Amino acid sequence: MNFELTETQLMIRDAARKFSREVVAPRARKTDREEIFPAEVYAQMGELGLLGVNVPEALGGAAAGVVSYALAVMEVSAACASTSVGMCVTNMVAELIVQFGTPEQQKKHVPRLTSGAAVAGAFALSEPHAGSDPGAGRTTAVKKDGRWVLNGTKQWITSGAYAGVVIVWARTSNEGNKGLSCFIVEKGTPGMTPGKHEDKMGLRGSNTVPLNFENCEVGDDALLGKLGDGFKLAMVALDGGRIGIASQACGVGRAAIEASVKYSKDRHAFGQQIGEFQALRFMMADMHTQQQAAELLTLRAATLKEKKTPFSREASMAKLFASEMSNRVCDKAVQIHGGYGYIDEFPVERYLRDARVQTIYEGTSEIQRIVIAREVIKAAAS
Ligand SMILES: Cc1cc2nc3c(=O)[nH]c(=O)nc-3n(C[C@H](O)[C@H](O)[C@H](O)COP(=O)(O)OP(=O)(O)OC[C@H]3O[C@@H](n4cnc5c(N)ncnc54)[C@H](O)[C@@H]3O)c2cc1C
Repeated sequence: MNFELTETQLMIRDAARKFSREVVAPRARKTDREEIFPAEVYAQMGELGLLGVNVPEALGGAAAGVVSYALAVMEVSAACASTSVGMCVTNMVAELIVQFGTPEQQKKHVPRLTSGAAVAGAFALSEPHAGSDPGAGRTTAVKKDGRWVLNGTKQWITSGAYAGVVIVWARTSNEGNKGLSCFIVEKGTPGMTPGKHEDKMGLRGSNTVPLNFENCEVGDDALLGKLGDGFKLAMVALDGGRIGIASQACGVGRAAIEASVKYSKDRHAFGQQIGEFQALRFMMADMHTQQQAAELLTLRAATLKEKKTPFSREASMAKLFASEMSNRVCDKAVQIHGGYGYIDEFPVERYLRDARVQTIYEGTSEIQRIVIAREVIKAAAS
């Protein structure tokens, strides 16, 4: 692994940093408090190439690679995790269509995702009764007169009410995981209706809805990948997606540390800056060390994906460690702020609420441990 960033990686990181500081951060508190979906911000991100960082230029992407993508997500997340989660899912959806779509599907959907014309992409895998176990999904797709008819309910779909392009997993046969297939459904397709927006603890600017399918018809050209390959596509997408969530956790953790360092200089107790107390200095030392370790794990997973070498274990390790790190770090950041950490005058209470979901979505910490253990044991046996 090369510890030096390339010119392209530095350029993307710096562009994302500038944009995040000037455009995303100033509206982050309002986005959270008033649950404002950041549609306008996504349009601007599209212009900067941030909605398709690892997507070929011919399809409107920045073609800057996976490390650049991770760095960009860290920057946006340090400003506003509500905004970065939609960015992550849009990049993930665009990449999945690049990897598995036909040339027609690529041309039709990917430029709309990368430019922001589709507002966002959505990834509809989870169902009310099946999150960790997507193979138990009950949404069906039945072929009728040459068209697919989808019925069922998807749950917790990020950007679900706004996304112009939605990838939907549905059961095309009863053969367990092999019975799942993937479909691209466009916003406005009759029969696909978003339900009530969830009133969440954190990521309040991100839209999270159930998506209901009632005799929702799509053509044969909506099938993404091969019939019955849906589970495989989900696992491929989630491996990459975990690098995105690990990056999000690194960004939120870093923001919490920066806020804590600043506060520890401004606040005085017992006649000195609170940052002079060894108890708080040790907290900040641990926070910084853990955040840096998480960044290294995340960039290593990104480097492996970029080199097209296996990276499932590394992506799960990065997601597990980074998401647990951001929860610990944000909790300590609130502690360092004392009572002010508990009110919305300072951003650390938002960071803590936003961090909480990172150990849950795109595979809980328990699921990451299952993946890591499986890979470790497999490697030891070979
Ligand atoms: C804000 C938010 C946004 C989301 N966005 C999306 C999205 O865009 N698209 C999408 O498809 N989904 C999305 N999700 C769903 C998310 O991925 C799931 O919530 C997650 O995978 C967990 O599934 P579950 O909620 O059904 O929990 P369950 O699977 O019911 O798990 C409950 C508990 O049991 C544990 N558990 C389950 N199985 C095992 C096992 N085998 N071994 C050990 N422990 C186990 C889990 O770790 C967890 O602690 C989102 C969720 C949230 C909260």
